Amino acid sequence: MPAPDVEVVGGGVAGLVVARRLALGGASVVLHESSQQLGGTVAAHTVGGIELDAGAESFAVRGGYVAALLAELGLDGDIVLPRPGPAWLQPAVGPAAPLPATSVLGIPGDPLAPDVAAVIGAPAAALAAELDRAPLGDVPDDLAALVRARMGEAVLAELVAPVVRGVHSRRADEVGLALAHPRLREALDAHGSLGAAVLALRAAAPAGSAVAGLRGGIHRLPAALGGDLARLGVDVQLGSHVDDVRALRGTVVAAAPGVAAPAQPGRDIVLVTLVVEQSALDSAPRGSGLLVADGAPGIRARALTHATAKWAWLREVTGGLHVLRLSYDDDPGAHVATARADAADLLGVELPRASVIDAARVTWTRPAAASGAPAMIVVGETVAGSGLAGIVAHAETTAVNLLAS
Ligand SMILES: Cc1cc2nc3c(=O)[nH]c(=O)nc-3n(C[C@H](O)[C@H](O)[C@H](O)COP(=O)(O)OP(=O)(O)OC[C@H]3O[C@@H](n4cnc5c(N)ncnc54)[C@H](O)[C@@H]3O)c2cc1C
Repeated sequence: MPAPDVEVVGGGVAGLVVARRLALGGASVVLHESSQQLGGTVAAHTVGGIELDAGAESFAVRGGYVAALLAELGLDGDIVLPRPGPAWLQPAVGPAAPLPATSVLGIPGDPLAPDVAAVIGAPAAALAAELDRAPLGDVPDDLAALVRARMGEAVLAELVAPVVRGVHSRRADEVGLALAHPRLREALDAHGSLGAAVLALRAAAPAGSAVAGLRGGIHRLPAALGGDLARLGVDVQLGSHVDDVRALRGTVVAAAPGVAAPAQPGRDIVLVTLVVEQSALDSAPRGSGLLVADGAPGIRARALTHATAKWAWLREVTGGLHVLRLSYDDDPGAHVATARADAADLLGVELPRASVIDAARVTWTRPAAASGAPAMIVVGETVAGSGLAGIVAHAETTAVNLLAS
């Protein structure tokens, strides 16, 4: 057998996208996936008889990369928008409230706006406004240091930290300004304060939802990519765990952690899904869900998505049942009892034991970001960050560059 042009290691979305684009460009491609299914963190499971996403459930619309890919796969007609309205926040102290309307990653445009004071309290809001009036000076490199210096600890802990964790699965001190927003530094320089920079970024942002989903679930994406790889003649090898890339004969594209360099210790995200029967949830009391600040008393979940409130297509298939997704940074122990208690507190409704029709727990181990320049071509979360929009864009570009070279 002649050596293939390219061997892709890892059949998550990154590996699938890069393999597809290379094959479309005329390359012969082998894809190795260690498990028995494609998709990696984009997977399905059945809970309470309903087929649901077991990992990612939406994609960021920025850049249009995922939508363009879905269009190529004939799935653009099934792109759906979530319920409009802000996410809610459960602060450490006080009741849940909608996230401030004019904000970027939880940073308020106007710290004195009533929806900001409702979360952090009037004294902390006044302090934030005062701090942000100081001359700009040197801008720190990480988001936590910037927000602490310009708006104080309360804005950081109560607003920014929970949103950053929900969006990027990282602490604010692990997020550089460019990742927070590609034009944040530029806007700070132009406007001289953090609040003014946020207002300018918001004014320039396109109207509409920042995320979208797929009717039937995001897990349809890897299924469609896998179908296209078969059509294009890519040799997809399931159950093929690559220990040593030196045994491969084609140009290697690493699309899984630990292939290009020893895997750095990652973190676990535990997702508990509850399917419940409770008509009090029909009114979506917390919109599409909540982010939880550190120290919220008695609550172990980091975030809750009320999936049947967020996605109309899902509501249509559940026959009146509700789907709640709760994420945890570590094992919640008795997961059904813990998630039921957390959901009841966060949503402000009673969820007796009998209201839980079914439950599932999935533990995902996420890789740490790659450090240093890799010795081979790498795609996926370790280099493109968490989230399908960035991963798809990076994998597409990588494949195009590889074809050109
Ligand atoms: C609970 C949860 C919810 C999320 N929600 C969203 C969301 O709503 N929107 C969003 O945009 N993002 C979301 N994300 C993030 C997103 O799912 C990931 O960033 C993305 O799917 C990662 O894709 P990947 O291809 O880089 O890696 P992975 O999905 O991890 O795929 C890597 C693949 O490589 C295989 N593999 C590993 N080692 C080897 C080896 N040595 N040889 C062969 N194969 C190997 C694995 O089996 C796996 O299939 C979520 C993540 C989690 C955990």
